[in-house]
Amino acid sequence: MVDLRSDTVTRPTPGMRAAMAAAEVGDDVYGEDPTVNALESEVAAMFGHEAALFAPTGSMANQVALQTLVPPGGELLCDADAHVVTYEVGAAAAYGGISSRTWPPVGGDLDPDLVAAMIRPAGYGAVPTRAVAVEQTHNRSGGQIIGLDVLRGLRAVTADAGVALHCDGARIWHAHIADSVPLADYGALFDTLSVCLSKGLGAPVGSVLVGSAERIAAARVLRKRMGGGMRQAGVLAAAGRYALRHHVERLADDHVRAARLAHALAPYGIVEAEQVRSNIVALDLTKAPVDAAALVDAAGVEGVRLAAVGPGAARLVTHLDLDDAAVDRAVEVLTGILGR
Ligand SMILES: *Cc1c(COP(=O)(O)O)cnc(C)c1O
Repeated sequence: MVDLRSDTVTRPTPGMRAAMAAAEVGDDVYGEDPTVNALESEVAAMFGHEAALFAPTGSMANQVALQTLVPPGGELLCDADAHVVTYEVGAAAAYGGISSRTWPPVGGDLDPDLVAAMIRPAGYGAVPTRAVAVEQTHNRSGGQIIGLDVLRGLRAVTADAGVALHCDGARIWHAHIADSVPLADYGALFDTLSVCLSKGLGAPVGSVLVGSAERIAAARVLRKRMGGGMRQAGVLAAAGRYALRHHVERLADDHVRAARLAHALAPYGIVEAEQVRSNIVALDLTKAPVDAAALVDAAGVEGVRLAAVGPGAARLVTHLDLDDAAVDRAVEVLTGILGR
């Protein structure tokens, strides 16, 4: 089976399992888990921030961050395809009382001026914009990367307006590797960043929220309120620490494999190979002879799994548990179906 549905399907490697088994642990709700504490300070330092908070999921890390940035009734601006408004089950509204307004999906092609024009100041009867969130890499666009200059432009816009800036950096590691941007350069631009250990990095569970000491202290309370206070979580944090040491540089391999998939499928008019710069290949099947469900079914029969993300859209994601032979097999099966 070649599973290209998501980079969340990876299983912990033997080395990672050994690190988990050997982890020193304590009760993290008392702040006494040394492995969680080490992970939090390491990730904070990587992004040049004061503090960090280990969370069970990226969704919780995002939502806790947004609740520290936007008071109830305040507004969040983000891309219409952003994970925070498409895949988090309305959490910003349900838990934070946060009103969300979106710009049309642009993936990595973000225009800071467009965001500037959307920001609403506080005033009688208005919904004040309190935060802007961006995604790096941008999931639904096919892992597109927002350039550092664009992010700097956006930071200037939000700073000017007194609005906070959050990064949903579930795959910020991929942007760091693809664009050779130091993590601290990204860190310097955002009030909060949430980063996933369980996507491309291959840990079984976990995300980390990064920010100022004051904000992370507030986030710790909100995480507990949402039921995210964990006890001997060092077993999980150890997997994350292992992933940070061993699985960041190798993301370059995933990018090469995604590019190979894209180049092989480009002749069928369903993807522009130059658009694929990280580990996600978004397929536009609107003009293809098969729709997403039919492609998923036909490939599944031959042992290749991909994800339908709409009637005319599917995606392929490369990750730690796939090698070159797996990608070759996927190319053979998919081109076979598309060429029928
Ligand atoms: C996966 C992902 C998250 C977090 O998802 P969880 O399943 O809650 O860990 C957040 N943002 C993006 C862009 C993602 O791809």
